[in-house]
Amino acid sequence: MVDADVAARVSELRELINKYNYEYYVLQQPSVSDAEWDALFHELQALESAHLELITPDSPTQHVGAAPAAGFAQVRHDIPMLSLSNVFSRDDLEDWLHRVQRFAGRDDLTFTVEPKIDGVASSLLYRAGRFERGATRGDGYIGEDVTANMRTIRDVPLRFSNGATQPELLEVRGEIYMRRDEFEKMNEERAANGEPRFANPRNAASGALRQLDSSITAQRPLRLFVYGVGLVRGEIPPLHSECLALLASLGFPTTPDVQICSTADELWAACQHWQDRRPTLPFDIDGVVIKVDNTLLYDEIGTVAREPRWATAFKFPAMQGVTVLEGIDINVGRTGSLNPLARLRPVVIGGVTIRNATLHNEDEIRRLDVRIGDTVVVERAGDVIPKIVRVVTEARTGDEQEFVWPTACPVCGSSIERVPGEAMSYCVNSSCPAQLREQVVHFVSRGAMDIEGLGAKLATRFVDLGLIRNLADVFRLDWSAIVQLEGLGEKSVERLQRSVEAAKQRPLSKLIFALGIRHVGERTAELLADRYGSLDALAAASVDEIAATPGIGNVVAQSVADWFAEERNQTLVADLKSLGVRTTSERSTAAPQVTEWTGKSVVLTGRLSCMSRAEAEALLKQAGANVSSSVSRKTALVIVGEDAGSKAQKAQEYGIETIDEAEFLKRIAGLAAGVTT
Ligand code: NAD
Repeated sequence: MVDADVAARVSELRELINKYNYEYYVLQQPSVSDAEWDALFHELQALESAHLELITPDSPTQHVGAAPAAGFAQVRHDIPMLSLSNVFSRDDLEDWLHRVQRFAGRDDLTFTVEPKIDGVASSLLYRAGRFERGATRGDGYIGEDVTANMRTIRDVPLRFSNGATQPELLEVRGEIYMRRDEFEKMNEERAANGEPRFANPRNAASGALRQLDSSITAQRPLRLFVYGVGLVRGEIPPLHSECLALLASLGFPTTPDVQICSTADELWAACQHWQDRRPTLPFDIDGVVIKVDNTLLYDEIGTVAREPRWATAFKFPAMQGVTVLEGIDINVGRTGSLNPLARLRPVVIGGVTIRNATLHNEDEIRRLDVRIGDTVVVERAGDVIPKIVRVVTEARTGDEQEFVWPTACPVCGSSIERVPGEAMSYCVNSSCPAQLREQVVHFVSRGAMDIEGLGAKLATRFVDLGLIRNLADVFRLDWSAIVQLEGLGEKSVERLQRSVEAAKQRPLSKLIFALGIRHVGERTAELLADRYGSLDALAAASVDEIAATPGIGNVVAQSVADWFAEERNQTLVADLKSLGVRTTSERSTAAPQVTEWTGKSVVLTGRLSCMSRAEAEALLKQAGANVSSSVSRKTALVIVGEDAGSKAQKAQEYGIETIDEAEFLKRIAGLAAGVTT
């Protein structure tokens, strides 16, 4: 490459990387995968190190992240929050090891090996043991003040545990992230509420942490792992591993399972160990971080541009593959949504053969401009269904076919509608067989009516055999016909019969969720169950009344009202009731009874032998008592268990009635019986 070409490529790469950085760090909407970004970044680094004269201070290789966004107060990092160099192979790792040994001037170093959490780099400042300020990394020197948002995260200690106040000033650094299961659950809820899904847990965590309204952050399942310290005033141990132990003792969740290694063999084995564990971890990691354990050597070993030399990250190979899109199938979901699924020429990615990838919706097909016959880049992340990240347009021959989005339901031929403002299209026929199949599978599933032994396969079989023609049929199955079916023994049919019977008593929220009303996810169902207490009350509510329920918006309210307005759904509700399915919540099964407990302020102290404290509290609340945690002059009664302390004493001082466990059980007996049956 001649120099003019190199300069042109360098400026092209910088422009691209800056654009991608903005999309990733500021908008939280990356348009390329991390592996693609890494490839561009390393190409730029390689060109710059071969042509040092081309390095400029504004090159992305010289700084980290992106400038803080407007709307946040700015926080200066007294000790910059840097990035990490990368190694991708054992050879790279050995080169790094020798370099560090050379800079440290010794070869007896020990190292820590930690998972590289794929979240958002964060700084948490504590003064005299109290949380004072939280900040993002920003551009490494200036970050965004997100103190109020961090306060809403349960993992963030607001003060050191055990009341410690040392070190006097401590900046803890870590990663704010989302667990995969909690991310999936949140995304399901968002989809059910007609909100767009987040692409991955990292983007979702970044978006949640950088909200201008901290009540939104509070609703998102953010968590924290800490992996080190920044600014310190006071004593901390000299070894990084000891420092992590100190942080744990102060109440911080530290990066788990830190290993200590000294040789290249040990380091490589530890990297492989994490790579093997990666798919089974409950959170995303994108590599392994190796650090020199002795922090007293850090100044000696030094820092280059945006990276310390005393640490590096082993990055896992990208879980990507290239294959051909052979077709697009449209599956019809339980709410009638049309879900496009890519049919791929089988390709092995990370040891797993991939045949399908999700395309989400019509807009995604357009955004990717993906055509049948295209060569595509497919990415696998954790256990989630693989997705097409890019079309290799250079591989096009001209024979590729544009996909024509259907105008009728591919299963029942009914017309389809796309609600304005939503990305999904829906089959309008509520009796569409594909919908029924999916509805039944959803109805009996774990988070819904939870019918043990009736999994997706068997439920689909029952639908296909005509044993289930609507949801109520789940409770009037023809057991004499089922016992004749191949592969189902008498014992398992008996068990199944018992599970179906037990499912009639599921809480109202589970039933509402199970009905599969569009936009009603688990959380929304809980809100509706709490607010209305019975299916009848919910069915009778107007759109405006439903929309007035805290946490429920107009779209959901309309969808619920529409569902109950349909005659077939009214029949379904009536059928469920006549079949003995509980359609009310516990609290509304009977008119509230006035008992000796009603309105009484009660305190529980000490240990009970017959039930847990929580169970006792639940009983008291159900009886109408107000359970309080401290004794005051307003307290009417104190229940004294074993090893009771000062509360019992205080009750005596105030002359408040006290009773022991036996007396409590006697007085609550009628109610306890009611609860346990
Ligand atoms: P990085 O994420 O590769 O590494 C540095 C970061 O690792 C630190 O800031 C720290 O927050 C984090 N980390 C996690 N666990 C850690 C641990 N145990 N100990 C120490 N640090 C730990 O580097 P970066 O500069 O933050 O970002 C670059 C990376 O971000 C790229 O490699 C790419 O994967 C991704 N990126 C992607 C795009 C895109 O468009 N897809 C754009 C920009 C950046």
